Amino acid sequence: MKKALVCGAGGFIGGHLVKRLKAEGYWVRGVDIKGHEFSELPCDEFVLGDLRDPTVAASVVSDGLDEIYQLAADMGGAGYIFTGEHDADVMHNSALCNLNILHEAMRKHARKIFYSSSACIYPEGIQTDPNNPGLKEEFAYPAQPDSEYGWEKLFSERLYLSYRRNYGLEVHVARFHNIFGPEGTWQGGKEKAPAAICRKVAEASNPGRIEIWGDGEQTRSFLFIDECLEGVRRLMDSDFPGPFNIGSDEMVSINELARMAACIADKSIQLEHIPGPLGVRGRNSENTLIKQRLGWAPSQPLRVGMEKTYAWIDGQIKRQSSNCA
Ligand code: NAD
Repeated sequence: MKKALVCGAGGFIGGHLVKRLKAEGYWVRGVDIKGHEFSELPCDEFVLGDLRDPTVAASVVSDGLDEIYQLAADMGGAGYIFTGEHDADVMHNSALCNLNILHEAMRKHARKIFYSSSACIYPEGIQTDPNNPGLKEEFAYPAQPDSEYGWEKLFSERLYLSYRRNYGLEVHVARFHNIFGPEGTWQGGKEKAPAAICRKVAEASNPGRIEIWGDGEQTRSFLFIDECLEGVRRLMDSDFPGPFNIGSDEMVSINELARMAACIADKSIQLEHIPGPLGVRGRNSENTLIKQRLGWAPSQPLRVGMEKTYAWIDGQIKRQSSNCA
């Protein structure tokens, strides 16, 4: 039986990854600074611990692990990473997790390690057009990410790849593009656009209105969680270190995303544009490299994932209000 460690198991992607690895027959240890908010995780072992502490990293990275998935990071949506208010924590906390885990993986001769980087590493200057044709992996340099979150991810990509070069550690690096789905943060300030929009639409009356940051013409692509995990598992089973994009190439504007959510909810919703943190103007995944190397790329229409996500968030809201009643 293969043994895996999932760092950040209490989070959105980590929680889903634990379930996927268990379904594949793995023995799984999860570690996180907090428990999972929405799910009873089927981990064989769950360690509540802070990976900024080297002794915690040393204890969870034990000998004999086949695979390590490093997803732990101090992160959130635009309301968290683009305001500038959390820059020092984001950089310090995430870098320490990466430094500690990677060093222990090298010391304990882990067979393979996965690192989750982000589309936020791409230079701001090539994302000014809402019709962005797609970000190829090679566009990362010369570097100019638009957030400290992106700079930390870029530093950590280089850190992982340097452990590969200098210590022969098998590392795999992917740049996730806006992953969404059920059991992700949907309120409280760290939620990302698909969850925030589903929540606003679900809470709105019919007819009603919701607030959208900026003019809503900024574009993104969004990838449903199941396809993200498929990409991660395929990358781990390949001999390709990356970095490569794991993202959808179905680009939409935030206004289109909001209209899609309203249509799923069968509500007549007016969009009210207000000032707010925005990020880059246009971003899309470019999937030539993943198709070439893995013979696979995400293909599920955005609408399919949005329907599942809307249904889950709507259920959370109804549960919350029935608990309060
Ligand atoms: P998440 O915030 O739900 O999960 C991250 C988890 O890391 C959280 O549960 C958090 O408690 C944990 N963590 C943070 N600091 C820790 C510490 N010091 N010790 C132990 N655990 C700690 O985020 P997610 O959406 O599941 O993202 C997972 C990874 O994928 C992150 O590295 C993130 O940067 C990356 N990523 C995500 C997206 C996305 O759209 N969700 C996009 C690009 C990259």
